[in-house]
Amino acid sequence: MYDIIIRNGTIVDGSGMPRFRADVGIAGGKIAAIGRLHESARETIEADGHIVSPGINDAHTHMDAQVFWDPIGTCSCWHGITSVVMGNCGFSLAPCAEKDKLLVMRNLERAEDIAPEAMEAGIKWSWETFPQYLDAVERTPKGINYAAYMGHSALRTYVMGERAFDSEANSEDLSAMKREVRAAVRAGAIGFTTSRTRNHQTPDGHPVASRLANWDEVRQLVGVMGEEGAGVFEIAGEDTGFDPERIKNYLDRLKALAVDTGVPVTYGMFSSRRAPDYWRPFFKLTDESSQAGGKMFIQVHSRSLNLVMSFETVTPFDRMPVWREIRKLPLAEQEAALRNPETRRALVQATKENDARNHEAVGAEPRGVNFKYLYVMDQPNPPFRSVQEIADAAGKDPVDCFIELALAKGLKQFFLQPLANENQDHVLEMMRHPRSVVTFSDSGAHVSQIMDSSLQTHVLSHWVRDKHEFSLEEAIRMLTFVPASNWGLQNRGLLRPGWAADVIVFDPEKIAPMLPTLDHDLPAGARRLKQKATGLKTTIVNGQVLLKNNEHTGALPGQLLRGPLAARA
Ligand SMILES: [Zn+2]
Repeated sequence: MYDIIIRNGTIVDGSGMPRFRADVGIAGGKIAAIGRLHESARETIEADGHIVSPGINDAHTHMDAQVFWDPIGTCSCWHGITSVVMGNCGFSLAPCAEKDKLLVMRNLERAEDIAPEAMEAGIKWSWETFPQYLDAVERTPKGINYAAYMGHSALRTYVMGERAFDSEANSEDLSAMKREVRAAVRAGAIGFTTSRTRNHQTPDGHPVASRLANWDEVRQLVGVMGEEGAGVFEIAGEDTGFDPERIKNYLDRLKALAVDTGVPVTYGMFSSRRAPDYWRPFFKLTDESSQAGGKMFIQVHSRSLNLVMSFETVTPFDRMPVWREIRKLPLAEQEAALRNPETRRALVQATKENDARNHEAVGAEPRGVNFKYLYVMDQPNPPFRSVQEIADAAGKDPVDCFIELALAKGLKQFFLQPLANENQDHVLEMMRHPRSVVTFSDSGAHVSQIMDSSLQTHVLSHWVRDKHEFSLEEAIRMLTFVPASNWGLQNRGLLRPGWAADVIVFDPEKIAPMLPTLDHDLPAGARRLKQKATGLKTTIVNGQVLLKNNEHTGALPGQLLRGPLAARA
C-alpha cells in the first residue's frame, strides 16, 4: 500500500537519461518504486500525457525573511520549485539578536528590496545565533524545503556592531567570526556567503557590511569551512571594472581560495552589452580551478535579467521634475493627468531636459532609458517589441508612446528593462557550460523590481518547447540533479527509490510562466510582483501533495535541509 501512486506518466528522472512510461509509488515521504505498479494507494494521481520529474531546486534565493510569513515559498513553488537555498550574497537574518535587528535589515532593505515594515510585521524574532535561526526555520511550518547559508554582512554586524559598516576587522573580531562560522556549519548551514559588489548598498548609500572586509578576512572565514570539510562559499563578485590587471588579480584570488581551502566556490555571472566578453574568463577559471584541485561552479540565468516596471511600481522617469509631482498621486489621478494633453507634453518635455542618469542606480533600481532596450511585456515569454520600435512604426515620440501603452492597460502595463544578459546566444552558451548551474531567481528579494521565480518555467517553455535548444531530459537535469548535486542536497534531484519524494507532474505542452501582477499582500501591505505558471498539475514535497493545479492544498510538508555535519552530530 502506497501513500500516493502517480500512474501512466512519462518519467524524466533528472539524470538526463531518456524518458520512459511508468508509475511512481510514494510511501513515507520517499519514492518507494518506479515501474508498472500493481499495488493500491491512498491517493492516485493520473498522469497520462504528463511528465513526471523531480521537483526543481533553486540555489539562489533570498527567502530568509519570507519563510516566516509565506511558508509555501511563492512565487517559486508555483514554478515547480520544491527546494531552495537562501542566505545568498552575504544576507542572512542570523546571527543577530532581536535588539539589533534593524542593523541586519539595513543590510537587506535596499540591496535586496525587502520592505523593512514587512520584515518588522512578518518576522517573530526568536534567535540570536545561526544555529538558533536554523532551529526557528525548522520549527516553522513550511511548504517547500529550505537550506540556509550564513551571510557575511549579518555575521560582521553581529560581531562588530556599527563598526561593521566602516572598519576592517581586528584579530578579536576575526576569531569571533570564525567561531560563529564553525558553529553554523556544524549546525547545518549549507555554507557561507559574501558580497563585494557596489550593487549592494544600504538605504543611506553606504556599502553593506561585508564590503568592508579585506580579502584576508574572507579567506580566513572560508578557511574555517575547509577545516570542517563542509559548506559552499557563495560570493557576489568584486567590481573589477574592465581593467585586465584587476580582473586577473581577482580571478587569481578566487582560484587560490578554492584550491587552498578545498571549499566549493560559486558565483553568479551574466553577460552585458556594455562588456560582451567579460564573463568568459570567469568560466575558464572554473576549469582551471578544477585542474588545480579546487571546485568552482557558476550560477547562470536563463534569459535577460529584466527589471519589471509599471506605473504601479516605478518608471524610469520618476525622479524627474514634473514626473515626481504626478507620480505622488493615487493611480487613478495619475491616469487622469496622463490623459491631459498639456500635462503629457510637459512630461515628455521633462525627459528631454533631464535624463535619469543623474541618480546613481544600484542593484535592481531603474536605469536611464534607452528605448531600444525598453520592452513591452505583453506576453510572458519573448519576443517582446521595444518601445522604440513601436514608436518608430507609429511615427511618435517614444516617451509619448510609453505613456500611451501604459494608459491602454489602465497603467498596469509592465515594461522590461534588461540590466544584463541581453544577448541570448551568450545566455545559451553559459547555460551549456558544464560547470554552470541554471539558478538565479533571487526569489524573496527585489520583490517589486524583478520577477525571476519563473526562470525555470522559462527554460521548459521557451528553450525546450519553443526553441528546441535543449531536450526536456537535458533541461530537467539542469534544473534538478545539477543544483542538488552542487549544493549537496542529499537524496534530492533524481527520481530513485529511497530518495525524497519531491516530484512534479506537468504538461510539457502547456508549462509556461503567466504574466506577472502587482499585489500588496506582503506583511504590512507591502507590495510585490507575483507570477504564476500554467501546466503544472501536481507538486509533491516529501511525499505530500503541496499544490494541485498549482493551488495550495493546505499541506506543509517542507523541511529544513541541513548541511552534512548536522547529520553526523
Ligand atoms: Zn542574491
